[in-house]
Amino acid sequence: MESFLTQQATRKQTVTAGITALLILLVFAIAVPRATMALPAVGPFMPMCALTVFTTAGIATFLLAAQFTATRQPVLGALGGAYAFTALAVAVQLLTFPGVFTPTGLLGAGPQSSAWMWVFWHGGFPFFVILAAFTRYRLEQEPIGATRVGLWAWLLIGGPIVVGAALCVFAIYGNLPPALKPATGISVFPNDTTAWVTWSLNVAAIIIVLLTGRLRSVLDQWLLIAVLACFVDTTLNFVSTARFSVGWYVARIFSMFAPGVVVCLLIWEVNLLYRRLFDAHTSLLRISVSDGLTGIYNRAYFDAQYRKEFERARRTHAPLSLILIDIDHFKQYNDAFGHLRGDACLAAVASALAGVVRRPADFVARYGGEEFVIVLPDTDLRGAFEIAEQAREAVMQLSLETPALVGYVTISAGCAVVGAGSLLAPDDLVGAADAALYRAKSVGRNQVQLAVD
Ligand code: GH3
Ligand code: MG
Ligand code: MG
Repeated sequence: MESFLTQQATRKQTVTAGITALLILLVFAIAVPRATMALPAVGPFMPMCALTVFTTAGIATFLLAAQFTATRQPVLGALGGAYAFTALAVAVQLLTFPGVFTPTGLLGAGPQSSAWMWVFWHGGFPFFVILAAFTRYRLEQEPIGATRVGLWAWLLIGGPIVVGAALCVFAIYGNLPPALKPATGISVFPNDTTAWVTWSLNVAAIIIVLLTGRLRSVLDQWLLIAVLACFVDTTLNFVSTARFSVGWYVARIFSMFAPGVVVCLLIWEVNLLYRRLFDAHTSLLRISVSDGLTGIYNRAYFDAQYRKEFERARRTHAPLSLILIDIDHFKQYNDAFGHLRGDACLAAVASALAGVVRRPADFVARYGGEEFVIVLPDTDLRGAFEIAEQAREAVMQLSLETPALVGYVTISAGCAVVGAGSLLAPDDLVGAADAALYRAKSVGRNQVQLAVD
């Protein structure tokens, strides 16, 4: 099964992704020179962002895992792993952040724990995206077997979680040195190895996503947006280490953007699938009730709907009329012109009949080979006779040539009605219309006969 995500992107999707990427780069270009500019301090901004990232990354993990189990495309599971890692890292970063929950951070964190979690998050996400890109490259041709999908889900999503948990323990209890060089200057870039490694992972992720996917599918395009957002986030943090600076605020906004993009995309896909399912269901319903040759309702529809209308007529004490129609000398038509033209004649007659019923509850169905039935709720015998006459006229006006004596195709019809208080059963009404049709045939054809009580 193919996911919407791994299908070739349309022009519109490519343009949307392109504009988004340009906007990110534009904001980045505007923010970098002003990164160190101080803005008013909004204390709850950081926890609010972290909580948003945690929630959206958690949702992205869940949706990607569900997509993976449905499509068995490893890249989706591996990406789920990248977001699971992000969710865990950001949660621990928030819990250990000094001054958010307690002055020194929860979980027995040291002063550097939170900073290290930030580094692991911003290096780990691009790292796992790179792994996902390779998974796609290597495993695309060999989808995972249905029986092994559970195991792979644990591996692809559980693996990064285990790595994340180990890094958390390491960050909290590892007695690590300061994560980034103390901000003597403003930027950590010039002489900080950790910063360079983290930044290089982000650049590598962009390059690898570009090279392996070449922006062909929706997933490739939006994955680029996600890694681009992570790159901008990381770079701005390194360019300006000061809290509540322009760079700091913009970086946090982008950190929410990376998982948010994927969540929106996945929810959009669910919505798309729902629409497709609805359309498929509607068209299946339509196919199941229509006759393949003539396009009008089939016998199955008649059987079900006629009984419903019969019951309704009985309940509401309204009359219900039935017209049975049979093409005259149709065997001769077939014998003379062949069955293919016979089929075309049947279709033409069917559409002529469909043209004479106008009320929403009325309907025409193919009853059998060259026999049709018209059901007319809330119609008495006089009304049914009028409709049957109109149908007879409509077929004559088709002027379909036939070898029969009359020279053109005609129909015979029998009408019957069930009125208020009648004890007739549905089959009895059909029988009465059939008897009237038989009479129309026996007294000369090309005419309408009414059932007699
Ligand atoms: P009558 O006026 O008494 O109704 O004569 P008739 O020839 O129409 O009646 P008969 O029952 O002898 O023949 C019905 C013919 O309808 C026979 C059959 O080949 C033809 N028929 C039934 N279904 C189809 C179909 O789907 N396509 C075509 N081409 N012919 C069909
Ligand atoms: Mg017949
Ligand atoms: Mg016939």
